[in-house]
Amino acid sequence: MSLIPDDVIEQVREAADIVGIIGEHVELKRTGADFRAPCPFHGGTHRNFAVIPKKGMFYCFVCHEGGDVFTFFMKKLGMDYPTAVREVARRVGIAIPERGLIGPDPREPLYGAVATAADWFARQLRENAEAQVARDYLASRHLELETVLPLGLGYAPRGKAFLDAMKGLGVREEVLLEAGLLVKREDGTLLPRFRGRLLFPIHDLRTRVVAFGGRILGEGEPKYLNSPDSPVFHKGKLLYNLHVAKHAMRTAERAILVEGYFDVLRLALAGIEEVVAPLGTGLTPDQAQLLARHAPDVTLLYDSDDAGLRATFRAGDELLRQGLRVSVATLPPGEDPDTLVQKQGAAGLEAILKDAVDPLERKIQILDRKAFFASLPGRRRALDRLLPTVRAAKDPVTRDLYLARVAEAAGVRAGTLENELVALPARPLSIAPAAPTAGQQEFPSNAEKALLLLMLVSDEWKSRVLAVVDAENFAFSPYRAVFEALADGRPDVLDGVSARVLESLQAETLGDRSADETFEKAIDWIDGDRKTREITRIKREMTVAPEGDKARLLGEIKTLAAERNAIRPTWGVVETARRRGAPGT
Ligand SMILES: [Zn+2]
Repeated sequence: MSLIPDDVIEQVREAADIVGIIGEHVELKRTGADFRAPCPFHGGTHRNFAVIPKKGMFYCFVCHEGGDVFTFFMKKLGMDYPTAVREVARRVGIAIPERGLIGPDPREPLYGAVATAADWFARQLRENAEAQVARDYLASRHLELETVLPLGLGYAPRGKAFLDAMKGLGVREEVLLEAGLLVKREDGTLLPRFRGRLLFPIHDLRTRVVAFGGRILGEGEPKYLNSPDSPVFHKGKLLYNLHVAKHAMRTAERAILVEGYFDVLRLALAGIEEVVAPLGTGLTPDQAQLLARHAPDVTLLYDSDDAGLRATFRAGDELLRQGLRVSVATLPPGEDPDTLVQKQGAAGLEAILKDAVDPLERKIQILDRKAFFASLPGRRRALDRLLPTVRAAKDPVTRDLYLARVAEAAGVRAGTLENELVALPARPLSIAPAAPTAGQQEFPSNAEKALLLLMLVSDEWKSRVLAVVDAENFAFSPYRAVFEALADGRPDVLDGVSARVLESLQAETLGDRSADETFEKAIDWIDGDRKTREITRIKREMTVAPEGDKARLLGEIKTLAAERNAIRPTWGVVETARRRGAPGT
């Protein structure tokens, strides 16, 4: 932890009059919302130096010095960070607790190393001949270099130039390793982590660069590579652009969550500044909490393809768990926020944001369009998809409204749904198997495995499986993790065990069965499994049901059992074998 509390620093930054403070050193003239002056750093005579009060930052378009009010004191007067904070605090009349005087933050060298690297990467993007590929790439996305340089974008050259440059600047290798900017190969040699990539600096809430997200230019994998976690960077606890967006979020009383760095850039440049993105993973509980601290409303603006939708709903549930108001904006097919703003400008985007709907309503729309409500098994599957969102809603009023809406959409009594909600754990995806009744065994059923093998056959098969199966259908947790990773197209996020499971699946084939036959059998199994669970649930309900209801419940059980046995005449036999620990079908 740093020694001046974060919230105090934040308070100081917000109270600071950056125009007034910088205005003491140069003569600022207003141009629109910004202020311009001759640059005090390189001593120019033209007004290339900008102070942007809305963002609390300054930037010179010639010598590229830039930063916030603290950075200005550090760069102009040679202060260290705590001194700069104290100086600004003194001017705005905020008292800083004395314990701040004890000593420097032990992570100071790390911050310094990442900052030095960020400056160097930014210079490569401007000047290095090799970075032409990055400049061309930005141009192909209609982004002017002039527009992105103030945001700190950079270029990491191929090869080892970074190593030599850092050595020349006196940055130690151990520090660069700890910051994740170098990787050590098995033979002990060091290599820059980022090579041949366009770099997006990732800032902490104090506007310090703590990590990078790198997009590959040209061929190669992965498309995006992030800094690993380090003492100054925890990717699950930070959001891209939050250091800038939080101010706008407070004014707008909303946050917009997008998937990628370019989406953030495009929205911010279009004047919608309350925009942030997770850092290459699904939204974590910590990130949702972070959002909740800054805005009461969050609009999700993700791609409309299958992976985008899954990510949308997962993030939506996470936000509902924090008690936030959530809505889902829907982009036209094939568009992402980036392309949409290019074509239709900020107005087009605002229109889409205005039409955002509740995540549960959006789920119902999609299920309805896929005719889930047209058949009984379809309705059951629809419920499996809707209930997690109902369960996620922390706010009791929202939850009640959700229950009523789901009951209406699926044609089920609200009371029945309520029982089901109570019967299932609040967060089925966390550690425990999906449903306690079906999940006593932790060994995989062949059906689960078969579905994963199908997903690996082709993208077409993947979509087919995704259309009917949910993570909750996977009782074996490594399989569930693989399912989610494949669904999101992010196999790289798997942990050790699940990654090995995926590897072994990749080495397998479907055997002699055709893909169609495997699919049918697996779906039957899952349907049967679902019915068995339903039967168990009704049996439980019967024990407490009033006498008058018992006959009806018994009838429901008989119907379900008949349906199940019609799917799989040998159900009882197979199920018994499975309970004993034999493999599934
Ligand atoms: Zn300058």
